[in-house]
Amino acid sequence: MQLQDLYRDVILDHNRHPRNFGPLPEASASIEGFNPLCGDRLTLRLRLVDDRVDDIRFEGQGCAISTASASLMTEAVKGKTRDEALALFDRVHRLLTDDSAEIDDAKLGKLAALSGVREFPARVKCASLCWHTLASALKSPAPLPGPSVSTE
Ligand code: ZN
Repeated sequence: MQLQDLYRDVILDHNRHPRNFGPLPEASASIEGFNPLCGDRLTLRLRLVDDRVDDIRFEGQGCAISTASASLMTEAVKGKTRDEALALFDRVHRLLTDDSAEIDDAKLGKLAALSGVREFPARVKCASLCWHTLASALKSPAPLPGPSVSTE
């Protein structure tokens, strides 16, 4: 099996069966994200306990890439500290936007599947929407309801 096929399978699987999808009671931050280029919308809710992402869930409607990216993201950041999650945001942002960025499977795990989006520049914002929303939630945890994030 080619690596690209493996990446595609990960994206398809997370689109069909999104992880951590649904409401989150007792969220400490709730942020809306919108990608006008594609029409992707998501609401990200997370609960921070002792500066650690105790739980995180998302809802919304978007294309396969935006849904899969959000699903992969929630899996990846759950249990991480705020700083670890922001470091992961930086790493994924580079992966999506910098063609020369190294695809380090050891550090990225399943998130490496998002690197396939680099071949489709119009879809980068679909994949990065949830990550920008996460960064916003972590950098300025706001009382509910939180501010809106747009990739524009
Ligand atoms: Zn999209």
